[in-house]
Amino acid sequence: MKYLSILGSTGSIGTQALDIVRQFPNEFKVAGLTSNKNSDLLLKQIKEFRPKAVAIMDKSKVDDLLNFSSCQVYSGIDGLNKIASLSECDTVVNSLVGSVGIEPTYHAIRSKKNIALANKETLVAAGSVIMEEVKKNNVNLMPIDSEHSAIFQCLNGENINEIEKITITCSGGPFRNFSKEQLEKVSVQDALNHPTWSMGDKITIDSATLMNKGFEVIEAHWLYNIPYEKIRIVIHPQSIIHSLVEFHDRSVIAQLGLPDMKIPIQYSLSYPKRFQGSSKSLNLAEISNLEFKEPDFERFPCLKYAYEAGKTGGTLPAVMNASNEAAVRAFLGNKIRFLDIQRLIRRMMDEHKIIKNPTLNDILDIDRKTKDETNRIIEEEMTIKS
Ligand code: MG
Repeated sequence: MKYLSILGSTGSIGTQALDIVRQFPNEFKVAGLTSNKNSDLLLKQIKEFRPKAVAIMDKSKVDDLLNFSSCQVYSGIDGLNKIASLSECDTVVNSLVGSVGIEPTYHAIRSKKNIALANKETLVAAGSVIMEEVKKNNVNLMPIDSEHSAIFQCLNGENINEIEKITITCSGGPFRNFSKEQLEKVSVQDALNHPTWSMGDKITIDSATLMNKGFEVIEAHWLYNIPYEKIRIVIHPQSIIHSLVEFHDRSVIAQLGLPDMKIPIQYSLSYPKRFQGSSKSLNLAEISNLEFKEPDFERFPCLKYAYEAGKTGGTLPAVMNASNEAAVRAFLGNKIRFLDIQRLIRRMMDEHKIIKNPTLNDILDIDRKTKDETNRIIEEEMTIKS
């Protein structure tokens, strides 16, 4: 039996993780839950899963929960940290969105919890600090991301020193074949329409700019201690092959499956076992063709920025992440245009003075300052006048 704290339990990954708990009541129990501001759904989850404690990020929603629930209720980032380190839990599912996920991951690791990580911003912005704590505290960090779950499975029983290269597949997003001129004009609705994966809003926009794939390169670097030179991206629109690892002997191992997040979420929780899956079985004959091609770093420069930030290290990846987060939020709010996202990231990266070996506090500080500065530029220079 595993006792879970699910951070972000009302979001896309969180609700799917709870589906898995529902399906395997003899394997999983819920110890803690958190939501950003969806108190209605959180309340339903409390009634069904009976956690010891919950937290809601939005402090104005605390009363909604206090009036109705019998479990402990916390709020704000301290509340999230509390749920991440609950003594009743042994595994933390981090499905928070954005850099707000960094601190709870850190606290969970320091409290010796195993981590199932969907929050990529944790490793992008704070990879060095987090991986050091993982080692020190001897905990398991399991990826929920489909690509990293694939790499993990390809590496089962293998020697990391015998890897020739890792290839991360990328659907290409909804604008895979768009020209620069077309990209200038895309709307929020266009960008939210992902061809293969069903996900939350923020990651769907990141998948349209391909920033998401850039993040995944940095995540792979930290998770598997692989130099950036050995990490490649290939565009694969059908999202059937989730990633591949080539070894020195030229043998290539890939992991395949239908694009369904339930599969990597379940594996991150069942590992080292495999439980019965609930999604459709893959039939390759039903899939007419599998295509592959090189990514276009010019039309999708966020890929370039990620390699640059990753290789440079220090606080640069945190700046890239924070400016992206602020820009995506503004784009979702119809304040800026699609290509303004990449322009803002470039500008913030150019203006940043890098701190070489940052502490967690340095990173959190840079994160806050970068978001403030990005928002200031958006308000003063970019906001679309309607
Ligand atoms: Mg992914």
